[in-house]
Amino acid sequence: MQIVDSRQRLSPTLSSTACACSTCTARCCIEYTVTVTGYDVWGIVSGLKLAPQQFLVYSQATSNVAGAFKLDQSGNAFDIALDKVRDDRQYKPCIFLAELPGGGGRCGIHAFRPHVCQTYPALTEDSIVALRKDVLCPTGAWKLVHMNVGAWQDQIHEFVLHRDIYEYVVQLWNRRVDSALPGTRYSIDTYYDFLLNFYQRLAVITTVLSENSWIEIVKEWNVNRSTHVLIGDEQDSIQTKSACLAKFCRDLERLLKRFKPSVKQDSLSEKQNINSNWLARGKPDNSLAVST
Ligand code: SF4
Ligand code: SF4
Repeated sequence: MQIVDSRQRLSPTLSSTACACSTCTARCCIEYTVTVTGYDVWGIVSGLKLAPQQFLVYSQATSNVAGAFKLDQSGNAFDIALDKVRDDRQYKPCIFLAELPGGGGRCGIHAFRPHVCQTYPALTEDSIVALRKDVLCPTGAWKLVHMNVGAWQDQIHEFVLHRDIYEYVVQLWNRRVDSALPGTRYSIDTYYDFLLNFYQRLAVITTVLSENSWIEIVKEWNVNRSTHVLIGDEQDSIQTKSACLAKFCRDLERLLKRFKPSVKQDSLSEKQNINSNWLARGKPDNSLAVST
């Protein structure tokens, strides 16, 4: 059975999006490398029936950055990002950008675009929606006064929730890598399988929630972020949360603790192939990192 989270299509209307982006050359989709969470990947895979290998690249990350995953015990860690068109242009467009004659383009996966794309160029500062200062948008394209700020805040809050969950999932994966026999190496395909398997199970939890419950969970998650310690030695202080969020945290915690799928271990010789991939694809040089 294919489970698709209906909330993926319930994005609030972002009132300024159409006018600001329709006359722009889509520099954001061309100049940035778009890093993604596991939920973004699952959304594209389940919604568009693509394999992760068709649209993702991975590259070396700083190992102690949250969300950086390992494939072995060497100390190297990686990030995943949307692939780029492979050509000789200095700035290569996102693989999903439908380029238009004369420059610019439209997102080819609008309903399934990653959270970082949905929320750009906004962020929150002390819970207040603000515009990023380093935007690639034409001067004056975005004005807070014309934006549906509440809808943007909801989007950013949902992004934060999914980024936090992804960090838990990566922690879970990294623990598995750290506790494997010395010399064990996992392939990127195995990592993708792990992610998709997890998010398919998470969808079973989220799809039974009403839209109102989900909105409440997302909102309160952002208020109580510091107490979301769901795995590890510390215990989550779920008693302090609303009933809705407490139940969601309990379900998520149970899923994280019981999620132990068998995964394939790969031979050491694969290391050479992986290193070749980085060289062929190039390391992202201008990441549109999570910034909220
Ligand atoms: S650079 Fe800004 S205005 Fe242009 S497409 Fe991207 S978000 Fe829209
Ligand atoms: S997924 Fe869509 S919005 Fe995001 S960078 Fe690619 S083309 Fe642009």
